[in-house]
Amino acid sequence: MDLGIDDDDLATCVACGLCLPHCPTYRVTGEEALSPRGRVAGMRQVQEGGAPLDASFVRSMETCVQCRGCETACPSGVPFGRLIEPTRETLAEGPDRPPLAVRAGLRALRWHRLVVAGSTALAAAQRLGLVPRRLSRRLGLPDRLPLRRPRLRPTGTDVWLFTGCVMDAWMRDVHADVLRVVTAAGAGVALPPAGASCCGALALHAGLGAEARALARRTIAALPGDARILVDAAGCGAALKDYGHLLGTPEAAAFSARVRDVHEWLAEHPPPLRHTGDPPTVAVQDPCHLRHVQRAHAAVRSVLSPVATLVELDDEGLCCGAGGAYAAVQPQLAGAIRDRKLAAIRRSGAAIVASANPGCALHLAAAGVDVVHPCTLLARAL
Ligand code: SF4
Ligand code: SF4
Repeated sequence: MDLGIDDDDLATCVACGLCLPHCPTYRVTGEEALSPRGRVAGMRQVQEGGAPLDASFVRSMETCVQCRGCETACPSGVPFGRLIEPTRETLAEGPDRPPLAVRAGLRALRWHRLVVAGSTALAAAQRLGLVPRRLSRRLGLPDRLPLRRPRLRPTGTDVWLFTGCVMDAWMRDVHADVLRVVTAAGAGVALPPAGASCCGALALHAGLGAEARALARRTIAALPGDARILVDAAGCGAALKDYGHLLGTPEAAAFSARVRDVHEWLAEHPPPLRHTGDPPTVAVQDPCHLRHVQRAHAAVRSVLSPVATLVELDDEGLCCGAGGAYAAVQPQLAGAIRDRKLAAIRRSGAAIVASANPGCALHLAAAGVDVVHPCTLLARAL
């Protein structure tokens, strides 16, 4: 069966196994089928050998966090994202599509007012004790969703700040910090209209390719011009930077070329920071879509080093298990993967963890970790 994978891409794997220690699902299960090599072999058996889309194949594919740690580790340059995304899309078009609640939730992300209103209603229900904490954690919700959000005001037109969907509803205070920091660094910040609410990353992650492409086209139309587009969520930034490939048009490629993770931009445009007292000791958690996909994780260290004593985790950037809706649909594996990250955080001795992705921040915070966005630390030091 054709999985929609380019045959040349599929042929790049030489089955050396060097990626195995960098794969979170292999690390916690030791199963070959849950390793990058095993997954590529399964794809080949289906696409080239006519093997059926049976339960073991589906499990092998659905348990992939899509962290792409295997891409950075692979000496043969296997483009794993370009293998797993069409595979997940093929599965989502058949009987193994994501559950109705997941599909409905992802489709709702395009209506930003609905997302914000729904989030506020949930926050109120949490305050009234109507949402059990176990359910919140099962769904990947913060224990206390915000009832109020800061009002964001544009400060100019030099750069766009992409604000997204869930992050704007749940963590708009981070956008407010980013707006202050970027403005202090000398750029006027424009804010997108409602059409640029969801980037489509969560839909693509779940295999809903048509939905992801529709959201990509909306986002491109909503952010016209030549100004840089700054993104403070690693998953969204990776998605926006890949629109050229996702849509395959020159317009989309030109749009992607304008996108920068906000830390990449700040590394080139440092804000004025004051230095007071002892800097806090901070462990940097690299979101996979910043480290393995955008490869922009060095910029976080560069911008944070004037205001914090940075310590490195000793797990070589292994995924934390958040992965889009992964923590909600694969809670046991996501929890086991997170346990490894928590152990690395404990070994680091840092009381604060800086993470530039809302999914990772929420997943770690649900386990009691004090997580802040790097730009929040910068905003405190302006
Ligand atoms: S994906 Fe790369 S590192 Fe992993 S087995 Fe294949 S060639 Fe080796
Ligand atoms: S993307 Fe991540 S979870 Fe999936 S095979 Fe690669 S390393 Fe493993």
